[in-house]
Order: sequence, then C-alpha cells, then structure tokens
Amino acid sequence: MSGLDLTLGAARVTAAIVDIESVSGDEKALADAVEEALRPYPHLEVLRDGDSVLARTDLGRAERVILAGHLDTVPIAVDSTGRRNVPSLLEGDWETGTLRGCGTSDMKAGVAVQLVLAATLAEPNRDVTYVFYECEEVEAERNSLGRLIRTRPEWFAADFAVLLEPSNNIVEGGCQGTMRARLTFRGARAHSARSWLGENAIHKAGAALRRLEEYQPRRVEVEGLEFREGLNAVGVTGGVAGNVIPDECSILVNFRFAPDRDEADAERHIREVFAGLDAEILVTDSAPAARPGLHLPLAAEFVGAVMAGMQARPTAKFGWTDVARFAGLGVPGVNYGPGDGALAHKPDESVDLGQVVRCAERVRSWLSFAS
Ligand SMILES: [Zn+2]
Repeated sequence: MSGLDLTLGAARVTAAIVDIESVSGDEKALADAVEEALRPYPHLEVLRDGDSVLARTDLGRAERVILAGHLDTVPIAVDSTGRRNVPSLLEGDWETGTLRGCGTSDMKAGVAVQLVLAATLAEPNRDVTYVFYECEEVEAERNSLGRLIRTRPEWFAADFAVLLEPSNNIVEGGCQGTMRARLTFRGARAHSARSWLGENAIHKAGAALRRLEEYQPRRVEVEGLEFREGLNAVGVTGGVAGNVIPDECSILVNFRFAPDRDEADAERHIREVFAGLDAEILVTDSAPAARPGLHLPLAAEFVGAVMAGMQARPTAKFGWTDVARFAGLGVPGVNYGPGDGALAHKPDESVDLGQVVRCAERVRSWLSFAS
C-alpha cells in the first residue's frame, strides 16, 4: 500500500510525491504509488506501461483533453555538509508557504495537480486522459512519452493537451524547434615548422565563427506570441598536436527556431548562413517546433479560464518541450503549471504552494460544469 492520499489537496500531495525519489530511470517506486493511488477510483481506467501510468475517464463527452506530466527528476543534490534535497521541507503553511526539495517545481507540483484532479473530478465536463510518464530529463530516445504515443496511439486521441511543466501558472504557447549541425573544415596536415606545406583547418573555421558573431537572430510573431530565435556555436573540435598544422576542425551549431519554420526550412536557413564556406554541413539531430494554437476555441477557452483576473498574458515557450510531440499528433497543446522553471534542476529547488493550490483550482474549474 502506497499510502498516497489524493484527497489531501495538491500541496500535500506534492510533498508526498517529492518524498518518493524518482531520478530518471528509477521511477518504479513512484509509478507504483501513482498506480495504486488511482486504481481504486471507479471513474478511471488505469493502465501501467513500464514505469509510466495512464488513466482516463470515458464518459462519452464531446471533447477529450490530455493532462500530462513526467514522474522523473534530475539527480538528488547533496550539499557540502552532506544534506540531500529530499525529503521535502515545508516553510510556512500548506496554502501560502514554500516547499523545498528535488522536483518540487520540475515537476512534481504539476503531477500533484494531475493526481488530485484525476481522483476527485469524477464527472468532468470533458473526458480527461492523465499521462504520467518516465525519463523526460534524459536523452530523448528514453523519454517514454515518445514510446507510449507509438505503442498506444488510442490513448492520445484528444482535442487539446496541457503539459503541466513549471510556468508560474502562465500559459506558454507552442515551443521552439531545435536543430544541431556539424560544420567540418578540412585542410592539409604539416609540421608547424614548415606550415607553408599545410593548410590550417582551424583558421578556415574562423570564417564560420565570424558569421555567427554577425548573425542577427529573428524575433517573429507567430499567432500573436513573440518567438526569439538563436543560432550559436556550442562546440569546437580540432587540433592534432602542438607542432602540427591541423587538417580538420569542426564546429557544432545549435539553431533554436520559431514555429513558423519546419525542420526543412531550419536546415535551409543554416545552409544559407554558411553558404560559400569551404565546409561540409551535416545535421546531427533536430526536433520540430510547435505552433501556439492559442486562437483555437479550446485553447482560447482554457486561457480564459486559467488566467482570468491575472495581469500577465500568455507567452511563447522558449525551449523544446513535449508539447511538440502532441503537435506532431495534431493535438494542440500548451505548457501551463505551477512552479518556476528558473528553479528547475537547482539544488535549492522549491515551489510556491500558493501557485500549486491556485493551479489545481483553476484547472478544476475549467473541467467542471458551471454550478
Ligand atoms: Zn520538467
């Protein structure tokens, strides 16, 4: 028996699941607890797949939405006195205080909101699919959301998706795409004492670095949100020995692109930027961007419900997130969740419990019939 009591509210459930360590690849204990906690609810169909858990209502509603979150965290931090950032530590009270610990913001607070709603919303106004997945904080190939979408597509047929990653309860639309490309410059090796006999590949690479230095990244509005692009060198390799003219140098560049480009456009752009240089350009990996889709009726209604009365406006998502996977399925999605992304992965990670409580209330009201 896991002892996870989902009726205690999202703040206390956050603490309870932070206290069950779930570093990527080691989510079994938490997945067991989540599965056991959800199984008793007759309004949910629950499925276990690896260390991921899926649950859904099936009330025949006209629309279906997905609420998704990852169960894993980055490794537990240990400070110089040997103190670990798990179990969680409460400062203040459960309504307005701060909860410290690994995964509080990224993203057990969001997962707690999902769990509490799954347990207590027996009659939502739309059918809801809850996705709790593993291995988000590691290489993309291990991310179980990709696997689940491939192997259980029927669980991902939906009209809208909310990924409860930390966004300070502000709706973040879409996401940037990302592409890495390797530029390889070749020369001729020679003894550096007779350098005129060689051709220096590192010097040739300088031309590419100058283009990057002069590069003016775009700011572009897509469906009402401003996205900022960036093209940067993120690695350089080259050199043979201290007395050898190097015959090869490569620069790894990373292009973060706005959702008005697809991957083919992104690659074309990279090739244009470096056109005319004596370099071989190879795309090593990429992931598509996602359009915000906030003009779609369901998304607009969601924004209205969860951001009513707030000064803040929805913003663009900087970074690649799993909403792009939903976009790839034709399911528009947003990032919206309690917690601060700037605190994610830090040893002093924490979450503002007021945000957790408000997030749960607002998503609940969005999914409830007007009373
Ligand atoms: Zn996360």
